[in-house]
Amino acid sequence: MLIKNVILPNKKRANVYIEGNVISSINEEAKKDDWVIDGKGKLLMPAFYNTHTHLSMTVFRGLGEDMWLKDWLEKIIWPMEKNINGEYVYWGAIIGALELIHSGIAAIADMYFYMEEVARVLELLGLRGVLGTTIFDFPSPEAETPEEMLKIAEKFAKKYRDHELIKPSVAPHAPYTCSPETLMKAKELAEKYNILLQIHLAETRWEVYEIQKRYGKRPVKLLEDIGFLGENVLAAHSVWLTKAEIKTLARYKVKVAHNPVSNLKLASGGVMPFPEMLEYGVLVTLGTDGVASNNNFDMFEEMKIMAIAQKNHRWNPTIAKAEEVFKVATENGAKALGFKAGRVEEGYLADLMLIDLDKPHLKPFYDPITLAVYSMRASDVDGLIVNGNPIMLNRKVLVSDEQKLLEKAEKKAFELYEKSIKDQS
Ligand SMILES: [Zn+2]
Repeated sequence: MLIKNVILPNKKRANVYIEGNVISSINEEAKKDDWVIDGKGKLLMPAFYNTHTHLSMTVFRGLGEDMWLKDWLEKIIWPMEKNINGEYVYWGAIIGALELIHSGIAAIADMYFYMEEVARVLELLGLRGVLGTTIFDFPSPEAETPEEMLKIAEKFAKKYRDHELIKPSVAPHAPYTCSPETLMKAKELAEKYNILLQIHLAETRWEVYEIQKRYGKRPVKLLEDIGFLGENVLAAHSVWLTKAEIKTLARYKVKVAHNPVSNLKLASGGVMPFPEMLEYGVLVTLGTDGVASNNNFDMFEEMKIMAIAQKNHRWNPTIAKAEEVFKVATENGAKALGFKAGRVEEGYLADLMLIDLDKPHLKPFYDPITLAVYSMRASDVDGLIVNGNPIMLNRKVLVSDEQKLLEKAEKKAFELYEKSIKDQS
């Protein structure tokens, strides 16, 4: 496949060849090829790696806004999750995955329930996923006990360990919802299959106080003491950390998934300590979290809000520079999930997006990366290639009938809502 006469992130014009799933060469000369994509007027960038989300929670989008967490859970989420099953997870993931495509996202790290359904959706639409069954110490929509949840996670790990697009993972929910025993059982499972461990960590001040109350130490210290930390850990949020804790995360090579929009929207109060993470060498990646707390998968918006929240929080406009933030959203994410991707370079996986530059808000075209972080939006994404396969070109999804899928998915979401609200009354 040839992407002809396209603009690269370094602003040079080139012809980009893809062989199989890899960028095979980038040069100035155009040769004949069986599949040619016209790149004229378009910018070719690495696709995003969204490292923390709950894809199927699109069915909750827009419900229970502007509420305290407790009310939101009790009035909306729990009654609806009581009725969540594999079918709703599938259709929720359909809405989510179509949005990922339109937002230039090649891969997600996801944790929820009925993950085989999420895997089916990503396979259908040709996207990558590192998928983990959520594990905690109380009943989930899928299982009653953590033991059962671990069994489901193991079955998933066996089924998907050699898959081209899907990587299995284990996802103990958080230190305050899992006992140390459950956390360590999840860790053993991840080690047995050599897969990633996803966890929510130090998201709120409440969590830090709660863990201190229960165990007499802060969350990172707890995880260190029980032997949970390691380089296969991907810790979402990681907001409320001391410098010593950041050094601990760096020492164990823990990866962080930063979720600025979700943190701001849920009023977590703190801002993830990005300058210290950089200083001590923690690999920081970017995630949207689920749309119930975002409310979209727009990684451009996520990058901009990350940058401006950092600057504002530290009273310093020189931190969280555009090129650093762009790397966090692309190359760092790919690295954390174990893929050689996130750069438009020979030998890298062909996970790429095309941007239509013919828009007033993208003129004048000085610096592509600055434009990407501060001016672009998901709706500027014109094409997406994942694993060497064109998934969307000229804003048309090629891999399935988008309109039909969306109609059915929306009906299913309304059905779940009506059923759950009826249950309540
Ligand atoms: Zn989350």
